[in-house]
Amino acid sequence: MADPREPFLRADDLGVLRGDGIFETILVVRGRAREMGPHLDRMANSARLMGVQLPERQAWQRAADAVIGAWPWDDEPEMALKLVCTRGIDEGDGTPTGFALGMQVSENTKRRRADGVTAVTLERGYDPDLRERAPWLLLSAKTLSYAVNMAAMREAADRGVDEVVFTANDGSVLEGPTSTVVLASGGTLSTPPPSSGILPGTTQGALFRAAEQAGWRTRVRPVTTAELFAADGVWLASSVRLLAPLRELDGTELAVDEQLHAELTKLHESLY
Ligand code: PLP
Repeated sequence: MADPREPFLRADDLGVLRGDGIFETILVVRGRAREMGPHLDRMANSARLMGVQLPERQAWQRAADAVIGAWPWDDEPEMALKLVCTRGIDEGDGTPTGFALGMQVSENTKRRRADGVTAVTLERGYDPDLRERAPWLLLSAKTLSYAVNMAAMREAADRGVDEVVFTANDGSVLEGPTSTVVLASGGTLSTPPPSSGILPGTTQGALFRAAEQAGWRTRVRPVTTAELFAADGVWLASSVRLLAPLRELDGTELAVDEQLHAELTKLHESLY
């Protein structure tokens, strides 16, 4: 166990020098990690796409348990658990660097869960079939190279909104910089397909699982921006933010059916 305030990584770690590594962020509530299996599956897939030697699954579970065990649950009922694995030291022997880290859930994130978010669409700059053509671009891998995603968030802030909905060259909806787009229309939940180069969301996966059990239809399919404006509700979903309703897109107010929002949130929570 290490003190997160103390230096931990070597300065020549490739995660630091090149963002060459992968990570997962998992919500832990009162000591219970949510969607651990899907997160570890996705981490293994990211490692495969990157050619990173990922330590075995049990090692991540042990690291996660140690961090969860050390968290002050009585004072802080939620934790964002990060699992990080880099390619290791530059010019080293190929041994990866791996660690788990517990972080507080920010007030900003909690506020957005409750109040929802405003967003702009921003171009991501690729065709929705690029993932197949160019696997070296690591689309659909959760790599540590989030500088572009964070720049997009700053662009959103400069434009006076909270969030971003990335679009592909054909105008179709991709994802947020740290979230999955989910929309509801007429009893069907839809989300864009990972084949368009986006991350398969564990929160979206869990929500769809719960919704199907409750009789909803679910579809993973290309989504147009126009559909977002016409939907009964649109959410930006991710592990720590949960389901944040999208209240405004490109300056236009979106109708969010509050009852629907409450229903989906309840369905999602019922899994835990
Ligand atoms: N898409 C991107 C680019 C993300 O970074 C994230 C999570 O941070 C998501 C989608 C949502 O994934 P999850 O629901 O597994 O947290």
